[in-house]
Amino acid sequence: MASHIVGYPRMGPKRELKFALESFWDKKTTAEDLEKVATDLRSSIWKQMAGAGIKYIPSNTFSYYDHMLDTTAMLGAVPSRYNWTGGEIGFDTYFSMARGNATLPAMEMTKWFDTNYHFIVPELGPEVKFSYASHKAVNEYKEAKALGVETVPVLVGPVSYLLLSKPAKGVEKSFSLLSLLGSILPVYKEVVAELKAAGASWIQFDEPTLVLDLEAHQLEAFTQAYAELEVTLSGLNVLVETYFADVPAAAYKTLTALKGVTAFGFDLVRGEKTLELIKSDFPSGKYLFAGLVDGRNIWANDLAGSLTTLQALEAVAGKDNLVVSTSCSLLHTAVDLVNEPKLDKEIKSWLAFAAQKIVEVNALATALAGQKNEEIFSTNAAAQATRKSSPRVTNEAVQKAAAALRGSDHRRATTVSARLDAQQKKLNLPALPTTTIGSFPQTVELRRVRREYKAKKISEADYVNAIKEEISKVVKIQEELDIDVLVHGEPERNDMVEYFGEQLSGFAFSANGWVQSYGSRCVKPPIIYGDVSRPKAMTVFWSSMAQSMTSRPMKGMLTGPVTILNWSFVRNDQPRFETCYQIALAIKDEVEDLEKAGITVIQIDEAALREGLPLRKSEHAFYLDWSVHSFRITNVGVQDTTQIHTHMCYSNFNDIIQSIIDMDADVITIENSRSDEKLLSVFREGVVYGAGIGPGVYDIHSPRIPSTEEIAERAKKMLAVLESNILWINPDCGLKTRKYAEVMPALTNMVKAAKILREEL
Ligand code: GLN
Ligand code: ZN
Repeated sequence: MASHIVGYPRMGPKRELKFALESFWDKKTTAEDLEKVATDLRSSIWKQMAGAGIKYIPSNTFSYYDHMLDTTAMLGAVPSRYNWTGGEIGFDTYFSMARGNATLPAMEMTKWFDTNYHFIVPELGPEVKFSYASHKAVNEYKEAKALGVETVPVLVGPVSYLLLSKPAKGVEKSFSLLSLLGSILPVYKEVVAELKAAGASWIQFDEPTLVLDLEAHQLEAFTQAYAELEVTLSGLNVLVETYFADVPAAAYKTLTALKGVTAFGFDLVRGEKTLELIKSDFPSGKYLFAGLVDGRNIWANDLAGSLTTLQALEAVAGKDNLVVSTSCSLLHTAVDLVNEPKLDKEIKSWLAFAAQKIVEVNALATALAGQKNEEIFSTNAAAQATRKSSPRVTNEAVQKAAAALRGSDHRRATTVSARLDAQQKKLNLPALPTTTIGSFPQTVELRRVRREYKAKKISEADYVNAIKEEISKVVKIQEELDIDVLVHGEPERNDMVEYFGEQLSGFAFSANGWVQSYGSRCVKPPIIYGDVSRPKAMTVFWSSMAQSMTSRPMKGMLTGPVTILNWSFVRNDQPRFETCYQIALAIKDEVEDLEKAGITVIQIDEAALREGLPLRKSEHAFYLDWSVHSFRITNVGVQDTTQIHTHMCYSNFNDIIQSIIDMDADVITIENSRSDEKLLSVFREGVVYGAGIGPGVYDIHSPRIPSTEEIAERAKKMLAVLESNILWINPDCGLKTRKYAEVMPALTNMVKAAKILREEL
């Protein structure tokens, strides 16, 4: 019985690659230094897997930036503006595409399916001349071989590569990316031939797009592609790997009928329906790679349960053809629990990071082969049992309260227009009110204060004083700028999710549980392990302090339940919506405490609501239903005169506009300025929107300072489609990452623009 790993994290257990990349980019170290760190990481990962007994060890899952960009390099598909003149693509061209250079911006980056990993989107058109321009896959295979490790080279499959690309600038939107299949396959053939010559006996093509809603002609492309590769692939075992969801029935049929393919990999954690398809019809004589160890989360596998599933699959695929695997690349989970000495022992026993998952995969494979490691299985069973029964996980009262929410509707009693009237009487705001999204620039000094307080190097009194001073500074600035609805600037927060997670029950934090987000950027999601409750008020102290410093309305600032959920590692022993409802109840208590403390405007950020949208359309409605419901729960209990704001990042939410309306917030501020007015087109098309809305008037991701004219121009375009009594004037998002030297003139111009427009109303 064999074992397989789909892919492995690249950053290293202590983010070694991140630091090596950043110092190379800063020109503090050389290319050789960077290569040395990368070589050492690859070698230690391969040896680790070999040492654990894994049979099919992946190579070419390492990347200096992104595996889609690696594929673009392999195919020589460098956009012409980067002036690549041929030959093997080196760091210069590679990192220019990834990050831009002195004169050119980077290529576009977008989310890899529904993960928090971002890939560099290939830009393709009829003009692109494909050529074999990066031998990375072959080099890595040889590198492992030289270390005595036989590996399975992994390539992004040709069809998924094209389906995830976009037409280059100037190429018509109607251009069929799949028409390039015939042009990229010759390069794939060269790569395969070289891998074969180097001694490879297996090859893995990742074709995760097979889990999406594909049309018949797109499925047909898979059939064509692999038929054309068949001759080149002969003599090799070929694995086509899918992940992130179940494979729809039609795609399953196409996949399992592919020519030249001898093995199929499935995500059986997210793909329960796939399990049924496999059981009812799996081609005889082919290998089944069963992805039972979760690559998207940090929980220890239920080994006994997985073993039962594997035994059932053995009857379908045959003993010799069943391979135990991970549900997807381990890229999306944390690296190694060994580096968590401070994590609570019991919670730790419930977890498995990438290094532990390798051991789990191997334990399952050997158990299936009749050599069960009783110690591993019994330790695992004991941990599963304590997790089920631990009082730290279960809080009866929370369970009951959350269960009671289901099925019922939670809506504020009055319509948004009635509420806006009541609020206006109380707030007395000018037309086109100005506000900001929450955070103000975070200086080095501020970060130092927070760090020292956490490390108990400064007293609580000193900390409170330092933060108070910062808030007071931010309040004064806003008053001088003449902003209408103020914020306290969030100086006490390091991260908008972590800040709340640290104060809620049911959350744990790792020290090194980093996951790559893009390039050298990593995030460290909190771990939600138990029922969520709020022991005490979380923001009231700072918000009331801030409100006491001004007579203008001071926004209370909270992170919404859906965003907290989507940016955490979530428990897998209850549905996501259940956890979300629990968080919603905790935030509801906070909202009501803020209201009691005299805060009349409360913003509940749902920055990540859109990104939690499931991959398949058939699942959208259900997700939107419980996520929007969760948001409404947080503020259903406030008075009409309390104004509820929400904020969303990411501009592409035209597809969920009805759900945004259904959130029933009084005011929404949204990122808008980089999206070519996509958002406004919705209103042009006649969507009726009665709540307050503030589409960002300038991009906060750039240091550029927008002029008054330009902001006014943009707001005028909004006024053409939106009533003047609902329009707010605000930036795209929080100002945390900007410098005061940029923020001050930008906000000055923003307020000026609002004043000019008021005159013209
Ligand atoms: N209130 C948060 C801030 O201003 C919102 C951040 C976000 O939307 N990502 O920083
Ligand atoms: Zn935002």
